[in-house]
Amino acid sequence: MTIRLRGHHLLCLLGYRGMGYSADFCVNMTAIYETLRTNPETEVEIITGPDDVCRAYPQDKSNHCEGTVYGLDEAVLKKLGLKVNERSSWQSLCSRVAETMVPEDISHLCQTCPWEKYGVCADGVGLIKAGKPLPKVGA
Ligand code: SF4
Repeated sequence: MTIRLRGHHLLCLLGYRGMGYSADFCVNMTAIYETLRTNPETEVEIITGPDDVCRAYPQDKSNHCEGTVYGLDEAVLKKLGLKVNERSSWQSLCSRVAETMVPEDISHLCQTCPWEKYGVCADGVGLIKAGKPLPKVGA
């Protein structure tokens, strides 16, 4: 199984704690998060544009998956030293986060994101950096 992710979702997944844009969005995001958490050898393909997370974005909300978030994808990939079309295990992507990021990077990278203020994504980077596991959703 390969999970297709755009750049910024590599970081959003570190901070996912069950919050999201709709119930269906969260079902999909939880499935992806728990697959990666429980099987870190899962292959991830980095893609441009809407990915396996975006496919459950609510259709009745203004389109968030196109437009300015492409800039965030590019900034995150640059920070992590990754490129579109690369394939890697989730575990090695987490190692890349540990090598290249500190929690404070989230506030610089993600200034326009409504979830940034909750601090969960910075916490996620901190867990990875400390070599600690991500929590089970809902735990
Ligand atoms: S602050 Fe927003 S864009 Fe940045 S990692 Fe968290 S959820 Fe993703």
